[in-house]
Amino acid sequence: MERCLFGCVGLDEACKVLVKSRSVQAIVKKAVGVKDYPTATHLMKSGNLEGDLGARLKDLLSDTVSDGSEVVWTGYLHNGYPIHVYKSHGVFWVWAIEYDPVGYFLGEESAVSFAQSNWGDVHEKSEGPKKDADSDDTGDDGEIHCPCCDTTDNCDHLLLLVDLTFRHGEGGLLYNAFNSRWADILNEASNEDEHRDSDEDPDFNEGDSFDELLDEVRSISDVELTSSPDSAPGMSSNYGYYFCSSKKKAVEALKKFSES
Ligand SMILES: [Zn+2]
Repeated sequence: MERCLFGCVGLDEACKVLVKSRSVQAIVKKAVGVKDYPTATHLMKSGNLEGDLGARLKDLLSDTVSDGSEVVWTGYLHNGYPIHVYKSHGVFWVWAIEYDPVGYFLGEESAVSFAQSNWGDVHEKSEGPKKDADSDDTGDDGEIHCPCCDTTDNCDHLLLLVDLTFRHGEGGLLYNAFNSRWADILNEASNEDEHRDSDEDPDFNEGDSFDELLDEVRSISDVELTSSPDSAPGMSSNYGYYFCSSKKKAVEALKKFSES
């Protein structure tokens, strides 16, 4: 892999650190089986992920790293887009919109220096533009601005505008698909209610189910902003806004959402 000034390494180096983590060891053992586990550990310790087993380990380890990640640092670009440094099983990696990770970092400092210098104009939130006293994302005008093009109108970046109080999609590219998925979920729940024996738990919780559906929207969008009636006079609901960084990404997100 290319030489990186900030000390980022490929999976072949990162795996030497990952192999020391007990949870990674357990995941590898479970995936490759007890018989192949000693060979797998050997490959990881030597940083040699070759052959069939090596290829399997590569997939497994990159999934394990992204699944087990927690954010340890966040910076923001001038347009409000976040850059995250993630930590996972002893290695670090950098996430940003429309950016393919260069590799892994073996220390938090090198990952953060990379994140700070790679995009030029990065500030940490505490130093950035002050938000209103309200804890939502509306601008001084009480409106939500698109983080890409700054408009308060509908634009190609708006994936979904949703009324969080009344649980209803109001706009954005995903709006129809979202409302029909939500209607299906509600229908299914009420059918189950009819057929349920009276001694069974009514386990459908509308709020939780709505949050789950929103989690799916979160996973396909890049930025989530919210507004509340406190900061947006005349509105009686909380609203959630989900944006994608480009029209292309929004279209792909719609496709993904409609297929699932
Ligand atoms: Zn926009």
